Amino acid sequence: MKTDTVEPALPVAASDRLATESAFAVSARATELAAQGRDIINLGIGQPDFPTPPHIVEAGIQALRDGHHGYTAPEGIKALREAVTADLHRRYAVDVSPDRIAIVPGGKVTMHQAILLCGEPGVEILYPDPGFPIYRSMIAYTGATPVPYPVGAADGFAMKANTVLGRVTDKTRLLILNSPGNPTGGVTPKQQLDSLVAGLENRPDIAVLSDEIYGHLVYDGATHTSLLSYPSLADRLILLDGWSKAYAMTGWRLGYAVWPAAWIKAVTRLSVNSFSCVNATAQYAGMAALTGQQDCVEEMRRAFDERRRYLIPALNGLPGLSCAESKGAFYAFPSVTGTGLSATAFQTALIEDCGVATLAGSGFGANGDGYVRFSYANSLERIEEAVSRIHEYLKHF
Ligand code: PLP
Repeated sequence: MKTDTVEPALPVAASDRLATESAFAVSARATELAAQGRDIINLGIGQPDFPTPPHIVEAGIQALRDGHHGYTAPEGIKALREAVTADLHRRYAVDVSPDRIAIVPGGKVTMHQAILLCGEPGVEILYPDPGFPIYRSMIAYTGATPVPYPVGAADGFAMKANTVLGRVTDKTRLLILNSPGNPTGGVTPKQQLDSLVAGLENRPDIAVLSDEIYGHLVYDGATHTSLLSYPSLADRLILLDGWSKAYAMTGWRLGYAVWPAAWIKAVTRLSVNSFSCVNATAQYAGMAALTGQQDCVEEMRRAFDERRRYLIPALNGLPGLSCAESKGAFYAFPSVTGTGLSATAFQTALIEDCGVATLAGSGFGANGDGYVRFSYANSLERIEEAVSRIHEYLKHF
């Protein structure tokens, strides 16, 4: 017998302010349709379609064989933190003490921790819109005021220093930056970062969270400038990075952050209060990734670039779509307003009628409305097939 039950209310109303990532819901729908026998091309999820390189997998297996089955230090294995500092030195010519590094289960955990540590009612936190949806969700959860700043197609989706600085108030406590950006692929030029850092010099009370998880993935001669390169930020910069995108390790759940020295004790406490430590296998695999050959990173980057060079012009050739050239990550972010469909209607039509999963830009903030995110972390053949299906669909629309 079926009885109507009333869901008991959660004891803490703040949970109502938590949002989610539409990527997981769209992937679930793609899996459901595939289970019904439909051929679904997934351009929705933001994860490399490559397997983790074999030498990294082997290092993880070896760690298990060697008996690394227990807890590790909550801040991460020392040798791994040292490997991170060596990698940062190689990439950016900076010297960072391993004592400022925290190993966490995925890059996402760093934004969770940074926003928890900074957010409270009465303060403002600036974040990019369109941007990764968890920024806004976590800001709202803490009771802080989310203050979006736009990143627009006209600027190649790059952050503009004046736009950000114009939104700073005496209540601003944290500024979130993300370049190369999700969902747009926008890369912020160094000159904009220089202006931003100069503009923040008289506000040492504002912390900066720089999400650089796509830092390896830039194209067309664009360069990725890390905020780590600015010594004036050292005592208030939180650098978010990790292995997920560069080494195709999304499922290993492994990331790291560089924290200001004065914050690391609080961060470690936060980790002890939630996940204790990252599983040892993943940490040993991550060590192999950083200390081994880096060719795999470059090979994947080249493959993404080849797809990008196909996809952006192809999207511009579709009736009603217009796609700005973006030079990073693995996303294209066309406007679909010319089709007469809203972003969500377009997303639904594509998955239900064409078998192509994409993400409506509205899931990334109000400024993402009218846009749709295409991930090109799929093979060129499948991307070509997706474009041809969409073309056919829009022709008869
Ligand atoms: N930051 C951005 C901008 C992302 O797009 C993602 C994942 O999609 C993350 C952080 C989180 O990465 P991870 O899977 O390592 O938690």
